[in-house]
Amino acid sequence: MEFINEKKSEYVNRALLDWFSANKRSLSFREEKDAYKILVSEIMAQQTRIETLLPYFDRFITRFPDVETLASAPEESVVKAWEGLGYYSRARNLHKAAKIIQSLDHFPSTYEELIALPGIGAYTAGAVMSIAYNQPYAAVDGNVLRVMSRVYASELDISKMSTRTLLKKEIEETIPESRGDYTESLMELGALICLPKNPKCMICPVKNWCLAHQKGLTDSIPVKGKKKKPKKVEQIVWIITDGESILLEKRPETGLLSSMNGFPITEKKTPLEAISGDSSCLLGKSQHVFSHIIWESEVRKIHTANLTPYTAYFKDLKISAVKISELEKLSIPTAFKKIIDLDSALKKEPLS
Ligand code: SF4
Repeated sequence: MEFINEKKSEYVNRALLDWFSANKRSLSFREEKDAYKILVSEIMAQQTRIETLLPYFDRFITRFPDVETLASAPEESVVKAWEGLGYYSRARNLHKAAKIIQSLDHFPSTYEELIALPGIGAYTAGAVMSIAYNQPYAAVDGNVLRVMSRVYASELDISKMSTRTLLKKEIEETIPESRGDYTESLMELGALICLPKNPKCMICPVKNWCLAHQKGLTDSIPVKGKKKKPKKVEQIVWIITDGESILLEKRPETGLLSSMNGFPITEKKTPLEAISGDSSCLLGKSQHVFSHIIWESEVRKIHTANLTPYTAYFKDLKISAVKISELEKLSIPTAFKKIIDLDSALKKEPLS
């Protein structure tokens, strides 16, 4: 089984590099070849498109310009600076990685050192090694899998790890001297030309060698196994307040939105009002789609004179009463910001 045709790869690689040199977008983190900035940008890019992440990247780097500043910052401020990008475990792992790097006497410069850091897998380690250090490592993401599958008309299922591993190995065997530019050229072609739908084949630098284009297979390649449908979870999200403070949960250290701030959640039809005889009102409904779960939330508010019985009820959660005026200083993930948006009393305090 092979992915890349070695003979053809020389032409394809040359065409990609020439195209990249003439068409690459000017992106701050690419020009400097600073391993720290490349690491941050690639961790952000794991789940986010480049155009989307750029303002977040600039904001993050202004706040944490080097690994030392990041390592010595409190975790809450790192997560706050990540706000809006989602997948917050990336921010926490990056912070942990910065602390480990600070304890070394150098920035990691081998694949083995990089991949040993928390939150860094084969893709990120490969990207840093090739882009920052020009070493012969591949960074195989969805863009690269799509481009290569089409160029070589591969019908291997790209959702399988074995396909990713095979492609990584073959790219590393055929990677040209300009390793960093090559890695970026594949990413860039996938982002700008070889789009998932309606690829721009007519202006593609590798169209003369692309088998999917020549055979009219761009709609059916890459081949992807069926994705599981996300599971719907129906629940109630509670806004419980005495007018000055509000109950906030520090979510568990593992699982969805781990260690993030959120509002207490119960299963549907939980009669929380019975605890104190308060009444609740329905503020509205909210939906939030994660990769594997969809939250269908009914948002209910209880205005009470005494928060203590509710804190006791949620004793198994890390619940605390937080001043409403302090909310804006905390990092609140989008799933819960949507809840805040339903409550005009909370929105009076501007949330960043
Ligand atoms: S020719 Fe079309 S399908 Fe082939 S790599 Fe280029 S854009 Fe993708």
